[in-house]
Amino acid sequence: MHDPLTCPGCAQPDLAFAPHDHSRCADDLLALAETQLAEGGQRLTPVRRRTLQILLEAHRAMGAYDVLERLAAEGFGHQPPVAYRALEFLEEHGLAHRIRRLNAFTACMHPGELHAPAFLICSVCNVVAEAPGVAVGLALGQAAKKLGFTVERTTVEALGLCPACALAEGPVRGVA
Ligand SMILES: [Zn+2]
Ligand SMILES: [Zn+2]
Ligand SMILES: [Zn+2]
Repeated sequence: MHDPLTCPGCAQPDLAFAPHDHSRCADDLLALAETQLAEGGQRLTPVRRRTLQILLEAHRAMGAYDVLERLAAEGFGHQPPVAYRALEFLEEHGLAHRIRRLNAFTACMHPGELHAPAFLICSVCNVVAEAPGVAVGLALGQAAKKLGFTVERTTVEALGLCPACALAEGPVRGVA
């Protein structure tokens, strides 16, 4: 079950963009993932665990091939399905998200929570933050309803600059 009191993403919504002790953050999320999978009768096998750890090294999106390269170097096998299966498992169990715009994956900051995040993706450093997407989803649902369209799945991905990259780019790109 998702508990807002222990969820790192709920405790600090701007987690991905804010300076923080990331080793603690990654450890907390890994521990949460383990508990939640165990509650659901699932197991974080060594390859799944390592895949999640790799995604948790930073709040960035990573391509399946980059994950595979790391897994292969550590002796988990060189075949693409090794990485894909682990990533799909994590996605299915709400521990990772697929970022379609980048064809990449990112660790979920609210493991176990039923949510449809709006992803804020930095186009310079690939940091991904999850913004609550409820309002966006409702607005889209209403607009679709007017056209007689039934929404089955919504993907909201915004590309732009994270606070650090916006600062580095300066006022040229119009960020005050
Ligand atoms: Zn972190
Ligand atoms: Zn999430
Ligand atoms: Zn950035």
